[in-house]
Amino acid sequence: MARRAFITGVTGQDGAYLAALLLGKGYEVTGLVRRSSHAQYGDHRLKHLGIAGSVKLVDGNVTDLSNLVRVVAEEAPDEIYNLAAQSFVQASWSQPILTGNVTGLGVVNVLEAMRIAAPGARFYQASSSEMYGLIQEERQSEKTPFYPRSPYAAAKLYAHWMTVNYRESFGLHASSGILFNHESPLRGLEFVTRKITNGAAQIKLGLAKELRLGNLAARRDWGHARDYVRAMHLMLQQDKPDDFVIATGRTASVEDVCRIAFGHLGLAMEDHVVVDAKNFRPAEVDVLLGDASKAKRVLGWMPEISLEEMIVEMVESDLAFLRR
Ligand code: GDP
Repeated sequence: MARRAFITGVTGQDGAYLAALLLGKGYEVTGLVRRSSHAQYGDHRLKHLGIAGSVKLVDGNVTDLSNLVRVVAEEAPDEIYNLAAQSFVQASWSQPILTGNVTGLGVVNVLEAMRIAAPGARFYQASSSEMYGLIQEERQSEKTPFYPRSPYAAAKLYAHWMTVNYRESFGLHASSGILFNHESPLRGLEFVTRKITNGAAQIKLGLAKELRLGNLAARRDWGHARDYVRAMHLMLQQDKPDDFVIATGRTASVEDVCRIAFGHLGLAMEDHVVVDAKNFRPAEVDVLLGDASKAKRVLGWMPEISLEEMIVEMVESDLAFLRR
């Protein structure tokens, strides 16, 4: 019988790539989607990957426990991937309570639904490198202390510890992937990499003249979402649930990303990038750099796509999209 996966946040970047990966492995995939009056499910990412017809979509919300219990009971999943979140750090300062409800408490709803309706399933929580915030060690591993610097990061940290607690208290197979930033052509336009690749493509095509950014010196350990969803799946194939850092081990600045994107198009970033105070944050995470040696050792996981390859793929995808 085919294995069954249930993904919250299936219409997001990671949800779409993960669904594609699991379908390719013969899974039956069900995804939770928020209904809204203005858009038919917002499943454009699933369409982009050519899998919109292959994923079963069910209405729901991670803030609604009774709905989750019913869905988990009906779907009887072998694996549950909790990717739903209010995931944009900047927006978490203007909507701190919503972020706490969805990104923090929402995870406990999914854990409770699993404990009640499918206690034998395996659970993946999408934890975040933003939990390291004001970094306490130069390279962050599973052992590095956390110091969240945004309502988003504080909510993710709560969810992370609840996942650990449900594992240790109730014996659930619950794992947490501490994923460093991961991008792709399916990344939302509000995140800096996609904002840059889309902005540069617009400038190249004469659709815009400038690109307004914030802190160009911020550094992140940027990987490709397609590489990172492989790690999520691997975590749930282990006998023992655990926590894993997923990262490339290389850090680059926002300015570096601009140089790759503009450079690929034969443009000079100095001619187009404008620094705008509006894009700065009340508290900044200056630098993140992950140590994924445990994932390599235990899961046999390694990233395969370089930053340069990824940014070029994103620029080309944005060019093609804008030309259409
Ligand atoms: P995050 O690490 O989850 O917050 O991912 P983002 O892609 O939103 O931001 C990464 C870094 O880029 C942060 O340090 C931002 O301050 C910095 N950054 C600089 N300019 C911008 C901008 O215009 N938009 C966004 N989203 N981030 C920017």
